[in-house]
Amino acid sequence: MKHALPSSALSSAAPCRRVLVLGGSSEARTLTARIAADPRLEGVISLAGRTSAPRAYDLPTRVGGFGGVEGLTRYLLDERITHVIDATHPFAARISANAHAACIAAGVPLLVLTRPPWAPAQGDRWREVADNAAAVRALGAAPRRVFLAIGRQGVADFRIAPQHDYLLRVIEPPQTDDLPPSCEVIFGRGPFALEDEVALMCDSRIEIVVTKNSGGALAYAKIEAARTLKLDVVMIARPASGDAAATHSIDAAMAFLAS
Ligand code: NAP
Repeated sequence: MKHALPSSALSSAAPCRRVLVLGGSSEARTLTARIAADPRLEGVISLAGRTSAPRAYDLPTRVGGFGGVEGLTRYLLDERITHVIDATHPFAARISANAHAACIAAGVPLLVLTRPPWAPAQGDRWREVADNAAAVRALGAAPRRVFLAIGRQGVADFRIAPQHDYLLRVIEPPQTDDLPPSCEVIFGRGPFALEDEVALMCDSRIEIVVTKNSGGALAYAKIEAARTLKLDVVMIARPASGDAAATHSIDAAMAFLAS
C-alpha cells in the first residue's frame, strides 16, 4: 500500500538530529517515546501500513512504503535525515535490506534495534527450522491440530499441507485465498497471558505450535504454554540479518543518536 508522503513530517527549522525510525516492533514504540522526550532530537516514525488501527506513537507518523531503495534514499535526502534506526520486526527482511542500501547511498548512519531471539529453556520441545517450507515439512504427513502463531503473512505456505487442522491467530483478517482448507481464524494482539494461552491450547485441542522466533516478552506466553502442556513447537528461525550495526539496547540506540 502506498501513501503520499506528508510534505514534511519534520519541521523545517534545523534541529540537532533528524531521526527516521522504521517501526513495526514494540521496541520502536519505546524508542520513539525516548526520542520525543529529548529536546535535541526531532523524529518521525514510519509504518508499513499493514495494521488498520496501529497504536499511537509519540512522534509524527508516516504510513506506507517508500518505493524501494530509491524511494527511501530520496526520502532521507529530501527530509535531511541525519540518523536512521531500523526498529522493524526481525522477520521484516526486505525493509531492513532496503534501509541498509538507502543509508549507504544517502550517507546516513544506520543502527538496527532488535530484540534477542528466544532460546529454548528446560522442558521446551522445539524443532528449529529455517523457514516456512521447513516448518510445513516438520509437521509431518499425519493430520494434526496445529496452532499457527505466525501472523497472517506466510500462511499461504501451509496450503500445501491441507491434511492438518489449523488454528490461525492474527491481528488483521487474512486473505481467504491464503488459508489452508481447514483453518479456524481467531483475532488477538499481544501481550497474551500464560493462563489464557494454556486455556486456548487446551480448549482448541492443539497438538503442535508453529511460531516465528520473534523474541520479546509480548508473545512469549505461547512458548511457556506449550512447555506447560508438553507440546511440540516448530520454531522458525529469523532470516539472515545484514551487515548493519545492530543493538538490543534502547540506551545504545539513544547513544547512537547523540553521536
Ligand atoms: P518487509 O517484507 O520487510 O517489507 C515489505 C515492504 O513494505 C518494504 O519493501 C517497504 O515498502 C514496506 N515497509 C515495511 N516496513 C516498513 C516501514 N516500517 N515503513 C515503511 N514501509 C515499510 O516487511 P513485512 O515483513 O511485510 O512487515 C511489514 C511491517 O510489519 C514491518 O514494518 C514490520 O516491522 C511489521 N511486522 C512484521 C512482522 C513479520 O513477521 N514480518 C511481524 C510483526 C510486524 P517499499 O519498498 O515500498 O519501501
